[in-house]
Amino acid sequence: MIKFPRPIRNLIDQFSKLPGIGPKTAERLVFNLLKWKHTDKADFANALNELNDSITQCSTCQNISEKDPCFICSDKNRDKTKLCVVAESHDLAAIENTGDYNGHYHVLGGVLDPLHGITPDVLNTNELVAKLQKNIITEILLAFNPDMEGEATMIYLKNLLEPFKKSKVTRLARGMPVGSDLEYTDEVTLSSAIQNRKEL
Ligand SMILES: [Zn+2]
Repeated sequence: MIKFPRPIRNLIDQFSKLPGIGPKTAERLVFNLLKWKHTDKADFANALNELNDSITQCSTCQNISEKDPCFICSDKNRDKTKLCVVAESHDLAAIENTGDYNGHYHVLGGVLDPLHGITPDVLNTNELVAKLQKNIITEILLAFNPDMEGEATMIYLKNLLEPFKKSKVTRLARGMPVGSDLEYTDEVTLSSAIQNRKEL
């Protein structure tokens, strides 16, 4: 087997860490990058560095942001009595893109998956409970993918939120195909799932 120079092997290893990228694809990406102009490669490297330097986490909703608090948490026109709990920041973006939701968010940081070490203590569940203790929230919308982990997470959260009787707990309507990803659901379907949300 051909042994590539060390910088190439290093970059192949880094690309291989990305989801859905195997060593062969990583190799193809690196050899494509090698053909780029020096300045384009520098821009690529800078964009990556900016993730470290300019992206932070909003301490209120746990969303990725350039500022803390993020633009959603600092928006006075949003309904403070509504809280939408999502697994990841890209799910928040999908809900935002529908333009149908005007409340606040809480990013849980994943879904329950005990086989892979994702237990409640590694998710932002304590922050969620603290938020409910501190604020008057009348509706909590659990917006998770309708798959096994998403359903298990919603059941766990419903039980966790049981003491907050004043908050109605809702979930997205079941118009979304089972096993689908919020992130890839078209805006019309997701929009109707928000409007027809059901009490849990
Ligand atoms: Zn925020």
